[in-house]
Amino acid sequence: MKLVEHFESGLDAPICLTWELTYACNLECAHCLSSSGRRDPRELTTEQCEAVIDELQRMQVFYVNIGGGEPTIRPDFWHLLEYAVDHQVGVKFSTNGVRITPERAAFLASPACGGYVDVQISLDGATAEVNDYVRGPGSYDTAITALRNLRDAGFTDAKISVVCTRQNIGQLDEFQALADEYGATLRLTRLRPSGRGADVWDELHPLPEQQRELYDWLRGWGEGVLTGDSFFHLAGFGESLPGLNLCGAGRVVCLIDPVGDVYACPFAIHDNFLAGNLLTGGGFQQVWQHSPLFEDLRSPQTGGACTQCAHYDACRGGCMAAKFFTGLPLDGPDPECVQGYGEAALAGSRTIPAGSQDHSKAAPTRNQPVMLKLMTRPPVSDCAESPLAGWTP
Ligand code: SF4
Ligand code: SF4
Repeated sequence: MKLVEHFESGLDAPICLTWELTYACNLECAHCLSSSGRRDPRELTTEQCEAVIDELQRMQVFYVNIGGGEPTIRPDFWHLLEYAVDHQVGVKFSTNGVRITPERAAFLASPACGGYVDVQISLDGATAEVNDYVRGPGSYDTAITALRNLRDAGFTDAKISVVCTRQNIGQLDEFQALADEYGATLRLTRLRPSGRGADVWDELHPLPEQQRELYDWLRGWGEGVLTGDSFFHLAGFGESLPGLNLCGAGRVVCLIDPVGDVYACPFAIHDNFLAGNLLTGGGFQQVWQHSPLFEDLRSPQTGGACTQCAHYDACRGGCMAAKFFTGLPLDGPDPECVQGYGEAALAGSRTIPAGSQDHSKAAPTRNQPVMLKLMTRPPVSDCAESPLAGWTP
């Protein structure tokens, strides 16, 4: 049996488990996949989190991706990180960098973390202008400071995690230069229309010609750039890219959210993809191995219209979450199908599902994305802009 077939029928433990520790965040990015901002008062306690780590150790989950929200905002974050390392569960955590002080960077580089900890700094623009457009004012400087602190502390191979958008595809070489400068590895991910991302997807998702640009760039870099399962839909251009070339939702991928709900995928936080809760469902292992939803996702899937496509074996119809949150059928083409079938499907009649939850801060951002004004040219002085700038007759 090929490895991909093993993955399709599910594994005893997920190989890509994401655990969002909190929905609280100091930022409020326009495209946040989990609509984070406010803490959920039902968040798992420290003891409950320790029990989850104990269970992951028993299941031999070798590492967990920790995110949020901003996970370092939890007062017990550093304790939980050490607890996981002490229990042989490696941690890759995603952060906007706000708490990566020189002291924390030194701790992360120290033998206490023993190579069990990886840090991913989120950066969605290689310049402050492009990054802060979606992540908010000052967030570029925060991320760069964190990268500098990590490098100066001797932390090797941090990750720069980039959500690819229409605004930053033209900056791929600049992102790589930043990674080189800070001794980091670039990790590119796909913008999915999940959470607040649903509200801004039309404006931010890469244009068809940018998909090709991204594909060619990724082909050039090969294994040197990490992509996870982000871009297997680009296999419709020809060759598959390195990475996980299938939708692993509920098969090798899943999400534990801050209140212990288990979803099929971090980009599918919706009641339709809720498998159970680890507090009431007999623990994570029980939910992972026996939830009816996951059993269904692991059964042979029909490819629908995509099975007629010559690229189906590589592309497999693309991302379930991208289809669901754009109101497309799950057995049809991906909304960003490189053969153009997605655009045709998007032009047809469809109903975009309402989100099941929203943790945005007091002024709701859902359907009202808060984005800064993006300048389309480099800043110039008023005089250079127009010889009559500021002059009124
Ligand atoms: S739904 Fe999309 S993001 Fe989630 S596992 Fe499948 S391909 Fe990946
Ligand atoms: S038609 Fe379906 S299988 Fe073919 S490239 Fe598009 S999404 Fe992929």
